[in-house]
Amino acid sequence: MDDRTYTADAEPGDHVTVAGWVHEIRDLGGIAFLILRDTTGKIQVKFEKDEMDDELVETGLGVHRESVISVTGDVEEEPRAPTGVEVTPESVDVISEADPELPLDPSGKVDAELPTRLDNRTLDLRKDEVKAIFEIRAEVLRSVREAFRELGSTEINTPKIVATGTEGGTELFPITYFGREAFMNQSPQLFKQLMVGSGLERVFEIGPIFRAEEHNTPRHLNEATSIDFESAFYDHTEAMDACEYVVKAAYEGVAQNCAEELEALGLAEDFSAPEGDFPRLTYQEAIDEINATGELDEPLVWGDDLSTEAEHVLGQEVGEHYFITDWPSEIKPFYIKDHDDDAEISTGFDMMHPSMELVSGGQREHRFDHLVSGFEQQGLDPEAFEYYTKMFKYGMPPHAGWGLGGERLVMTMLGLENIREAVLFPRDRQRLSP
Ligand code: ATP
Ligand code: MN
Repeated sequence: MDDRTYTADAEPGDHVTVAGWVHEIRDLGGIAFLILRDTTGKIQVKFEKDEMDDELVETGLGVHRESVISVTGDVEEEPRAPTGVEVTPESVDVISEADPELPLDPSGKVDAELPTRLDNRTLDLRKDEVKAIFEIRAEVLRSVREAFRELGSTEINTPKIVATGTEGGTELFPITYFGREAFMNQSPQLFKQLMVGSGLERVFEIGPIFRAEEHNTPRHLNEATSIDFESAFYDHTEAMDACEYVVKAAYEGVAQNCAEELEALGLAEDFSAPEGDFPRLTYQEAIDEINATGELDEPLVWGDDLSTEAEHVLGQEVGEHYFITDWPSEIKPFYIKDHDDDAEISTGFDMMHPSMELVSGGQREHRFDHLVSGFEQQGLDPEAFEYYTKMFKYGMPPHAGWGLGGERLVMTMLGLENIREAVLFPRDRQRLSP
């Protein structure tokens, strides 16, 4: 089957079979052009009606747009063709005929709304600028994997069906597991921590997280891809260094390997990897800076979480990726360690893009008795987490790590307006299929 030549590889003088989708047919009377598209690009197929076999011309020009065909013939130079070459067909095979009524126009001449696009992703990803998002997403994942390996960490996969949640009960999706209540995991947090105490010591995971988020927003999904990292003997500052390294690697990979995709998205000019160290502001500095702008109706006080509006105000001020450190302990989860000299302040940090939060992390509480009392303070039953807490009794090193939202990384990198554009088949409050 795949003895075909990709359109991008067809050179003048070659005799080829090219195969793909009918992008467009332009009939100029005596001569007509069929533009054939495959994953590498497009090629022009020329039909000279008077000089060619009638049946060949009929087959080639009678086929509906977006049908899959193959064309065999000679490649010749043709400066007026879009790619500088054209194929003169000897034979045309219609492999899979497309219905003339398409739910979405892959040539992009007719705009489609996001829901229509998501319902017809197969057709939607025939557009260069949509395909480009997913090529870039793949490059981001490749680059972060490589960066994690350079950091000496081991890729792990932890269960997505679990008995307990970690990030607060309300955001859990319950399921039935052989008659017992179970949940879709919100985060690999506890499992990755268990692995820093194992012989692996430094681990990462790229996998789905499930959150029954209450609100429909442009930056929340109910199923997202979390890029998680955790290392033994790291403190929060070392975890931040690793975070910066991995995020920069993602940008650098895209800058180096995705020129065509960036071009398709109209980003070729302005795309660059962040340079220099990401500024690190304490939470106190962050709220002072936000309050000083006077842009919020109510000034923020110690203990307030940062609203979307507050994040935007601060992002405008800072203008690049940055960290917020030293959060109030009361608004960070129980597994985050407090500073030794001040229990009001935690080692928790967030890494921010100017437009939104990308990462949360921190040094973890590795002392058994502190951990157990943290559970109680957060209203969680330590008994239910015995599988986890128990391992803190058998030699658990100090450790730190973070979780990075994969779709948010792609979204902010490419300036996408809606996080759903960075997922093939997003799950949100309305969308369960496809
Ligand atoms: P937010 O406050 O923005 O809703 P969060 O603080 O609840 O996020 P964390 O539990 O800190 O999220 O998760 C770590 C990272 O995972 C976030 O910084 C974000 O990049 C990503 N993330 C979390 N929840 C979602 C979601 N529902 N959809 C997409 N990405 C998410
Ligand atoms: Mn967070």
